[in-house]
Amino acid sequence: MSNLTWLEPADDDTVAETLDQSFRRRFGVAPDGVWAAPGRVNLIGEHTDYNGGFALPLALPHRTYAAVRVRGDGVLRIASAQQPSSWQGRVEEVGPGRPEGWPAYVAGVVWALGDRLPDGLGLDVLVDGHVPLGAGLSSSAALSCSVGVAVRDLVRGLAGLSDADLAAACVRAENEVAGAATGGMDQTVSLRAVDEHLLLIDAREHSVLPVAWTLPGHEVLVVDTRAHHSLADGQYAARRHACESAATALGVGSLRELDPGRLEDADVRRALADVPDGMARVRHVVTENGRVLDLVGALQEQDAVLVGSLMTGSHESLRDDYEVSCRELDVAVTAALGAGALGARMTGGGFGGSAIALVDREDVELVAGAVAEAFADEGLTEPHFLEAAPSRPAGRLGPRPTG
Ligand code: ADP
Ligand code: MG
Repeated sequence: MSNLTWLEPADDDTVAETLDQSFRRRFGVAPDGVWAAPGRVNLIGEHTDYNGGFALPLALPHRTYAAVRVRGDGVLRIASAQQPSSWQGRVEEVGPGRPEGWPAYVAGVVWALGDRLPDGLGLDVLVDGHVPLGAGLSSSAALSCSVGVAVRDLVRGLAGLSDADLAAACVRAENEVAGAATGGMDQTVSLRAVDEHLLLIDAREHSVLPVAWTLPGHEVLVVDTRAHHSLADGQYAARRHACESAATALGVGSLRELDPGRLEDADVRRALADVPDGMARVRHVVTENGRVLDLVGALQEQDAVLVGSLMTGSHESLRDDYEVSCRELDVAVTAALGAGALGARMTGGGFGGSAIALVDREDVELVAGAVAEAFADEGLTEPHFLEAAPSRPAGRLGPRPTG
């Protein structure tokens, strides 16, 4: 099916060269360098990060690029190839809700690094994103992390800042300045991924473990449904709140602490009686944590069939117990499975965004074609497709000859 839309990763050298030239045209001076940070797709472990649990994302080869130059006058100038609006202001002006809109993801990083930065630090920033925006593939973390790694490399005194601390600063930029709820998985994988590996994240311990991708004959196909339902933000907040109430009712610090064996206990049921949908929400979180660890084991055994069935189990749990799926995601999953995918699930927060499928390398076009056809039959917007090869973390692009 040649009429499908595939979103390809950008070529680093080409983007770096174009960005360098656009930066000079816009700001009248050369950037200090170009940095890039990846978007991510979560293989399994959804809505677990804010419950102290496990997730298993991978860094996409699709990255956001930032050309950055340090200034000494406390001025921030921020522009993007993806946005008509740019922003200029002073570092002291930045704070919760200021600036508004997309520049908050950039200015927020400077704000979050706060007193670690020298007085008078300012930045010129021009970004070019190759992660689709709002597709549940974390273009927002790719943006904040691309700027975060640039600032760390450019500012003397930040060299010792760990990836974990930089990720925390990028989370604060999103949560507090941009006002977007995010649990920390996105920034962690963008900064701490290991090439050709998934990253097992333990949100309670703030630890990561690279997990090798052992299925070279299989591919993770991403379906960007291009649906963005307006309930996403409110429902995300509602699920977080339900989980906090459930943890309090159960007397545990986070749902991570609840032993899976206790899910059927009468006292658990009683404790959750007053939490709306408490039992179903808790069942999702607890069983999802189990599926993440089982999937890591299945990868070690190179058991593609088991990996696939755990993915599909995750989808069913998100759809039926956590209730964060939607028609587009369900159509994508059903069509992919019908066309021979070994497993499929929604990925990301839900109510739109992307679905993924584990597919035999030979069948990628076939499965994508079946999904596109199902969308057309249902009268849905044409989906876009990406191939998610586990890729490297954020960093500086190699120095290029000037001239
Ligand atoms: P996701 O992270 O899944 O792509 P979000 O809603 O969290 O979705 O983040 C998307 C937002 O991030 C955009 O609406 C925009 O504000 C900002 N953003 C991401 N990439 C860019 C970019 N290249 N240029 C400008 N803003 C961007
Ligand atoms: Mg995001």
